[in-house]
Amino acid sequence: DTATPWHYTDEATMRGALPARPKFSHKGTFGHALLLAGSRGKIGAAMLATNACLRSGVGLLTVQVPGCGYDILQISAPEAMCLTDPHLDFISALPDLKPYQAVGIGPGLGQDAASLAVLRQLLEFASTTSENRPRPLPLIIDADALNLLGQHRELLALMPENTVLTPHPKEFERLTEKARDDYHRLELLRNFAQQYRCLVVLKGAYTCIATPDGELHFNSTGNPGMATGGSGDVLTGLLLALRADARLLPFQAVRLGVYAHGLAGDLAAAHTGHAGLVAGDIVRHIGPALMRV
Ligand code: AMP
Ligand code: MG
Repeated sequence: DTATPWHYTDEATMRGALPARPKFSHKGTFGHALLLAGSRGKIGAAMLATNACLRSGVGLLTVQVPGCGYDILQISAPEAMCLTDPHLDFISALPDLKPYQAVGIGPGLGQDAASLAVLRQLLEFASTTSENRPRPLPLIIDADALNLLGQHRELLALMPENTVLTPHPKEFERLTEKARDDYHRLELLRNFAQQYRCLVVLKGAYTCIATPDGELHFNSTGNPGMATGGSGDVLTGLLLALRADARLLPFQAVRLGVYAHGLAGDLAAAHTGHAGLVAGDIVRHIGPALMRV
């Protein structure tokens, strides 16, 4: 298809993308987000997404972690509220979703059957609209939640429109098929986003966002120092905060999140270099990155 609109997101594209906070705003103005993340040995992924979300302007954040993560989360992220899953080692139950304006699932989740059931119930709830919630609940799906979707592809049809998926190339392959080359991967990406009416963030250098209308947007920020464990979990938290902000349209939120994540990585690398950069350094530079848009 030669009609593919290719776009490039640079500094000029993003100028003014984050609306200023009104003087008389309060924490309700910016939304209440829910994060479902972590399993034994991977509570760090939940922490990185939590701290990233808190640094990205969210009004309120509740995080559900397995029992083994409760003390860790409460001590290291006092700004977040914490729900304890009934299971000690992984997420096994979906909380009441009524309070939330956006839900993120996946970082450090693991692939237990109980977590799969939670993902299915989340997709079903999010798609259901009513008088109280006329629009589907915004979702960000990452990491092991993507791997679960890849293994149970019938669930893809349950995704509400504008659901955000954040696969790296290997996760994207599990959702679709092995690409012959980079061009084939982009073709698979574009078709997938159109078929499921979702926003897919294919991560890597020049991260590419595919929209339900078949647009492809390549990102200009980021550096190889970000090729380190936990970088993607930071992006999930950032996108969760921006999708909870009702002032931003779905695509605007995702493009801003991807751009700010890469810029935060660039600002961090100016202090640490590429080899010395860890994902927590990206978190600490989200604020300064958002000041520059
Ligand atoms: P994950 O593999 O889920 O931890 O995600 C890695 C994150 O780091 C994604 O947001 C990538 O876009 C980013 N990243 C990884 N490698 C690079 C690179 N070489 N250049 C720019 N960004 C990168
Ligand atoms: Mg990841």
